[in-house]
Amino acid sequence: KDVPVAVLGLGLMGRALAGAFLRAGHPTTVWNRTPGKADELAAAGARPAATPEEAVGAAGLVVVCVFDHTAVRALLDRLDAADRGLLAGRVLVDLTSGTAAGAREHAARVAAAGGGYLDGAILAVPPAIGTPEAVVLYSGAQADFERHAPALRSLAPDATTHLGEDHGLSALHDAAVLGLMWSVLNGFLHGAALLGAAGADAAAFAPLAARSTVTVAGWLADYARQIDAGAYPADDATLETHAAAMDHLAEESAALGVSTELPDLVRALAGRALAAGRGGESYAALIEQFRRPAPPA
Ligand code: NDP
Repeated sequence: KDVPVAVLGLGLMGRALAGAFLRAGHPTTVWNRTPGKADELAAAGARPAATPEEAVGAAGLVVVCVFDHTAVRALLDRLDAADRGLLAGRVLVDLTSGTAAGAREHAARVAAAGGGYLDGAILAVPPAIGTPEAVVLYSGAQADFERHAPALRSLAPDATTHLGEDHGLSALHDAAVLGLMWSVLNGFLHGAALLGAAGADAAAFAPLAARSTVTVAGWLADYARQIDAGAYPADDATLETHAAAMDHLAEESAALGVSTELPDLVRALAGRALAAGRGGESYAALIEQFRRPAPPA
């Protein structure tokens, strides 16, 4: 509880992170490029630093949460220029969203400076930080994670998860989860557009849509087992059955004058699986279509 923490970057998320460390009792030093964003945190007990070097110097655990990887690079350049040995013996935890390649690049830079690096991905909005709703994923050396897990749990008490030693893993999981969320949202929005064209409110559709996403969530574990085993027995419904319903979705969309892009994409993927002779298998057999780029049109 008395482990000193530094938070660099006090945007919406950085302020939430610093607030959670403070509430958990950690001495917290904060810095932001543009002055003025530390005032409320200072009133809550944080120590504002005038420079990032000063903030890093105050803590063994340094959390960075700035706009993007370009901003992280600028910050690392600045720390390097100030004092090449500053990061030695400290662990820098980068909670800025980015790519796996960026995370690995930062890890190598911090390692060259004698420090540890964990890349993190926040699957939560700022108000959820520090509550059981927050999910934060980490990747990097197990020892660095274990050393700082008690402090990091201040941010996500029920879901502070270490994915593995490859620093790219958290960014990859973040991208995969966002892709999943966008697919669910696109399905909802397309459905709402379709029903709206027939005069039905989105509000009336929402409870059925929510229930259906819960139903689909219940299928994931079995489909994951099929994917890992490379065998897709159609215990529930065949891809052929799904494909027929996909045609209905496209037809209804065209008839009501709404976009057919989403049903066309879904049909194209299923069509390729059917052409590959997988019509009698489960929906999970579509994984084979996602595993490689689409053939040229
Ligand atoms: P904000 O736009 O609110 O804050 C951005 C922060 O980055 C500011 O503190 C800004 O400083 C700083 N910054 C930008 N460029 C630089 C630079 N070159 N050098 C130093 N600092 C810089 O964004 P958020 O706080 O919402 O997001 C921060 C990160 O957290 C992003 O990577 C985002 O994807 C991630 N995230 C955010 C979520 C959210 O719901 N907000 C959810 C999950 C992840 P200044 O004040 O000087 O401009």
